[in-house]
Amino acid sequence: MTSAALLDTAAAPLAPQDLHRALMHGPLSQGLHYLGERWTVAILLGAFMGTKRFEGWLSLLGIPRATLSDRLRSLCQLGVLERRDSSGSYHLSPAGLALYDAVLMIWDWERRFGGRDLAMPTTLVHQPCGHAFTPELTCRHCPAPAHLHRLRLELVPSSGLTPPRLPPATRQRGARMGDSAHTARMGLGLRVDRWALLCVAAVMLGCHHFSSLQVTLGVSSAVLARRLAALVDAGLLHVDADRSDARKRHYALTPASHALLGYIVCFDHWAATHLTHCQPTIAPVHADCGTLFVPTTACSHCHSRLLPREVTGLRSNALLQDSPLSP
Ligand SMILES: [Zn+2]
Ligand SMILES: [Zn+2]
Repeated sequence: MTSAALLDTAAAPLAPQDLHRALMHGPLSQGLHYLGERWTVAILLGAFMGTKRFEGWLSLLGIPRATLSDRLRSLCQLGVLERRDSSGSYHLSPAGLALYDAVLMIWDWERRFGGRDLAMPTTLVHQPCGHAFTPELTCRHCPAPAHLHRLRLELVPSSGLTPPRLPPATRQRGARMGDSAHTARMGLGLRVDRWALLCVAAVMLGCHHFSSLQVTLGVSSAVLARRLAALVDAGLLHVDADRSDARKRHYALTPASHALLGYIVCFDHWAATHLTHCQPTIAPVHADCGTLFVPTTACSHCHSRLLPREVTGLRSNALLQDSPLSP
């Protein structure tokens, strides 16, 4: 069954103007504004793998010094990392630790679709059960695994408040989708940046045509055309003639973009919970239990909830760190 077929089972389509407010002014967009940059995701993954020092990230990621110092400063300002002045080491704060589910989801995506072998453990081992595992997206209220077609995506009515103006985020110097000379050195997110994730989320919310995508994402038609073409090239969208109107093009998820659901919902939930001035705008209801869906991750072997201290990363059959992931 294709993802498009799954989405066809959804209730009445949501109005693109309402979707624009929910998506572009909501936690996902605001969170990605601060943390969606590729190096930032790689630095966070490094922190969960046990990296605590500047030199550690330098050797792990091959990141330029100035960029690393800039990103670490931003992560500290955001309250995701804390710097201990006595030792000069960096530690994940409680808000940073709460990003674990989202980081596991992007690790799983990179392993399956990213084709990268840099800066990433190839295997994660769950200490309580002793097995290598893949993280599974699950519901906090019931044991059923979460799938897109089992989530009813509802919008939270607008509070009437105007969204805060976002201060400038860290810039991606020269990094654009498809800029292989730049991205080849990165360990994560070759094809996935903030804009790609917002576009994939819009398709998940039911926007399948150019016109609804344009209203939802709020960009000019020239910009949207260029970006959609890049997403199709990158294997993140599938485009076809619309079955009901051959003049229209129908955009659908591919297996690679469908698999971004876990990262998108975990990150949206984190931003709504941990960023100031951020309120949830999309309230998914889990069809299996009928409650508001709160995402979490579980071990594919024993199905227990995954906690940072109980997971060890392995790379190329060698222990990456000599202790389990720890803050
Ligand atoms: Zn449930
Ligand atoms: Zn387990």
